[in-house]
Amino acid sequence: FSINMSQLELEEELGRGNYGTVKKVLHKPTKVYMAMKEIRLELDSAKLNAIIMELDILHRAAAPEIVDFYGAFFIESCVYYCMEYMDAGSLDKLEGEGIAEDVLGRIAGSMVRGLKFLKDEMQIIHRDVKPTNVLVNKRGDVKLCDFGVSGQLEGSLAKTNIGCQSYMAPERIQGESQNNLGTYSVSSDVWSLGLAMIEMALGHYPYPPETYENVFAQLTAIVHGDPPELPDDRYSQSARDFVARCLHKVPSMRANYAELLAHPFLEEDRNRHVDMVGWVARAIDYREAKSREQQKQQQS
Ligand code: ATP
Ligand code: MG
Repeated sequence: FSINMSQLELEEELGRGNYGTVKKVLHKPTKVYMAMKEIRLELDSAKLNAIIMELDILHRAAAPEIVDFYGAFFIESCVYYCMEYMDAGSLDKLEGEGIAEDVLGRIAGSMVRGLKFLKDEMQIIHRDVKPTNVLVNKRGDVKLCDFGVSGQLEGSLAKTNIGCQSYMAPERIQGESQNNLGTYSVSSDVWSLGLAMIEMALGHYPYPPETYENVFAQLTAIVHGDPPELPDDRYSQSARDFVARCLHKVPSMRANYAELLAHPFLEEDRNRHVDMVGWVARAIDYREAKSREQQKQQQS
């Protein structure tokens, strides 16, 4: 079936990114809550139609680690994209002061299986692996969203924000500055996965902007500095090795998805019980307490 705006009841805003706004909506005919992303594109309707057609292949992308796609449409110069609503939000808002090893293992396992599915079954490279694009629900499911399905869409988005919080692999940062867009391969996603894991362990982006004079210095650190590591006081040797296998500066030295799935860190994960539902509930409580605190500070 196809979705259109008249069937949707708009609810609260869930977040805002570089390219648009995400709102919670109720699809009235099915009574299903969805997340609707609005992307403003100054394109003619033929181009917008081509994008909608490309997005359509997302209907085939059904896997437990991938956010469900419900449909897309355009109005004037905006593309609207409807997907599964994830009621705990994205990992950047759940990481608190850092995520413990057992939960990190569960998240890493889901991410690797999701990325492997996209590559093997859909021939898609994600291209934008980062904590805001990993979504969680209160059942404890972890799913990927915002992967590069539509070449037309990617090409139309203004690449405004390379800096600040870059999860791009060193070779991509260099390729970008040399205007060489052909350097992107699946191993660049593996770097981003490793960097996202470090961020989840620390509770903040691993190359904090306040440490660097400017974005150029920060990108230079990614390209020329040593890759970051998991802290050795809170994570096991196998967790640290897993991340190190992702954060190799030379792309061909990074592990592939099959190797990551067979890694002791994910093997241990498969053999232990992890209370994901409890973790999500505590992470939401923490987030809400934090935001109440901030509101109080702003009032006083
Ligand atoms: P960027 O623009 O760089 O990709 P982003 O991923 O944060 O950054 P959006 O993809 O526009 O930007 O998403 C904005 C926010 O909306 C996300 O950070 C996430 O918290 C929330 N969000 C996105 N999709 C969903 C969803 N399906 N369910 C619940 N929340 C969502
Ligand atoms: Mg996103």
